[in-house]
Amino acid sequence: MIFENLEDYGCEEVAFFYDKGSGLKAIIAIHDTTLGPAWGGTRLWSYHNEEEALIDALRLAKGMSRKASISGLDVGGGKAVIMAKPEQKTEALLRAHGRFVETFKGRFLTGEDVGIGVEDAMIMHKETDYVAGISKEVGDPSPFTAHGVVCGIKACAKDVYGSSNLSGLTVAIQGVGHVGYNLAKELHKEGAGLIVTDMREELTRRVSQEFGAKVVTLEEIYSVDCDIFAPCALGAIINDETIAKLKCKIVAGAANNQLKENRHGKMLYEKGIRYAPDYVINAGGLIAIYMESKHSTAEEGMKKVEEIEEKIWRIISVSKEHNEPTYEIANRLADERIRNKRREQETSKKA
Ligand code: NAD
Repeated sequence: MIFENLEDYGCEEVAFFYDKGSGLKAIIAIHDTTLGPAWGGTRLWSYHNEEEALIDALRLAKGMSRKASISGLDVGGGKAVIMAKPEQKTEALLRAHGRFVETFKGRFLTGEDVGIGVEDAMIMHKETDYVAGISKEVGDPSPFTAHGVVCGIKACAKDVYGSSNLSGLTVAIQGVGHVGYNLAKELHKEGAGLIVTDMREELTRRVSQEFGAKVVTLEEIYSVDCDIFAPCALGAIINDETIAKLKCKIVAGAANNQLKENRHGKMLYEKGIRYAPDYVINAGGLIAIYMESKHSTAEEGMKKVEEIEEKIWRIISVSKEHNEPTYEIANRLADERIRNKRREQETSKKA
């Protein structure tokens, strides 16, 4: 089962780690290191079983390779997942995970993701240098990710409504955690109306109080009247069931692996809904951390993040020109860069 999955996802390596003392059960997947060492956050989630955790790590790692590639960064893709409930997140567990990351000696660099915040990353950092997203300059990458999503939404709005002005448009945000909250904040400033949902009531209450967002149930978010649906929670939420409910014209949000299967990207396309490929629009945090590693300031990082608007615009244009769904265009562009680099490396090895 494991090698079959590695083959299916084209993953270079997968490692499992168990720490007796803390009870840590973690998986690190290295998808591709052609462009550079593998970068990818650590997700802590209460998975139903090991297979679910493995598949999540492999899918997310592949997405990271494509994200780095299409963003023009010289890094590869990887991901770590920890199988645990939030209450099992102890200092001992996070430090054990830091030691796991350290065994890769820089071939894998990690940071925040769902269930892992800046404080957690700082604890991992006690055991390894290969942790990003904890510095004073960039710190928590989620505001950069949210800003990139706003830029991507503007490109979609320009295409659908003829203007990138978001004032008067309604955005439905699924999940108002780190990225979703910052996204709501920016969209509110831009004059957009907000509809939100989250499993955590205190988070929706905050967004409602601060930005006047209307709060709906977890199920209602798919069928609300809105212009843009912004998934900012977990993946696979664009599927047969939810596509039938969507009333929006644009799907553009931060969540990784939004399409349950590729064919769902095609279904969105056929329904006339613009889809901003997830790993293109949510690359802001990765771009900011990469820029920081090249000694750029947070401001320069933000400028680079803003290139996402042009990237999404270009993908939509090619999609319309070739009559192909946007996710296919993005995959082609991302995979092509990795393939070309690999060819170059093989040729120089032979020479
Ligand atoms: P987070 O854990 O801070 O927020 C996620 C929120 O979604 C939580 O508040 C959670 O309660 C909520 N949620 C979970 N399941 C839900 C459901 N079924 N319906 C509604 N709400 C639900 O995580 P985050 O850092 O904000 O990341 C959000 C998404 O964006 C993830 O898919 C992550 O992989 C992706 N992403 C994050 C970053 C980043 O910079 N943090 C970068 C790229 C991609």
